[in-house]
Amino acid sequence: MGELKFTSPPAPLLKRRRGGEVWVVYFPPFLQGEGARGGVTLLSPEAAYLVTHTLTQITRPDLPNNFDNSYHLPRIAWKTGTSYGRRDAWSIGYNQRYTIGVWVGNFSGVGVAELSGANTATPLLFQLFNVLDYNSPTGWFRVPKQATRLSMRLICPETGDVPGEFCQNPVTDYSIMGVSRYRRCQHRKAIFTNTSGTISYCAQCLPDSGFVRRSYPNLAPEVVAFYQSRHIPFEAVPPHNPACERVFGNSGQVGPQITSLNNGSEYFINPKQPAEMELSCQAANDVQLVFWYLNDKLFRKAKPTEGVFFKPRPGTLKISCADDKGRSSDIRILIQNE
Ligand SMILES: [Zn+2]
Ligand SMILES: [Zn+2]
Repeated sequence: MGELKFTSPPAPLLKRRRGGEVWVVYFPPFLQGEGARGGVTLLSPEAAYLVTHTLTQITRPDLPNNFDNSYHLPRIAWKTGTSYGRRDAWSIGYNQRYTIGVWVGNFSGVGVAELSGANTATPLLFQLFNVLDYNSPTGWFRVPKQATRLSMRLICPETGDVPGEFCQNPVTDYSIMGVSRYRRCQHRKAIFTNTSGTISYCAQCLPDSGFVRRSYPNLAPEVVAFYQSRHIPFEAVPPHNPACERVFGNSGQVGPQITSLNNGSEYFINPKQPAEMELSCQAANDVQLVFWYLNDKLFRKAKPTEGVFFKPRPGTLKISCADDKGRSSDIRILIQNE
């Protein structure tokens, strides 16, 4: 979170001195909903409901450290923030009746090492709600009647995407039809290996028999490089078939490696609203420009580090990426209507 300013002239309702630090609690009118009439709607009813739902969860990283049963946790949605240099900390919470913002800091702007939204502002926010609205008779937010695009679907908890072939333990979660990203999870990918799993094959060197199809974590090349440099163990794709002609003796002439999309994968699109798909590659250091081809037709010229987007249509798609040294590589994918 960036800087937060309580913009209306704040009328401090509560001040506390503790050592040299002053705690001030503001109830800015705009946060109490006054003047909200005639305002601008920023979030749809569906999005507002989901944000509230998310901010109500208590499995979260910004619970106070010493949070235990000594707090009575009020039923609120809340969000914290801590500014750079720990100059101030805040926590804003709301229920059906109240919205309260707590700001903690020095008026001089001097940072305090112990200051954090979660540990300083949130406990105060909880106390305020418990004083103001303990055992509030007012119910909690319900799915708004206008929220007709809100639905439930299965997702892969690893990515939040629609479960793919290798995703285990899918969970149900909310989505907003026509808005939520509809992408088949790619957190694992299929690789052909020998039966003992010590050698991997590409489409060019796949033998006629004696291979198996296994799934491996679909890690970005940068992540793999990071793990390797730090000696962090990970489930790695076995080394490529040393007899493969594509790699063997020709490694200096390999074209850009297409890192998105994923060779041999099936992608599902929502026929009503196909989301754009991203192409990316890793090219050698000496490359300034790459050329993307879709089904052998030039699609875009781009920098090697640039993501290139296209509108997918159902069918098989050959994607090629050539660099400015004339080296190229291809992948093939299948796009289907969901
Ligand atoms: Zn997954
Ligand atoms: Zn190969």
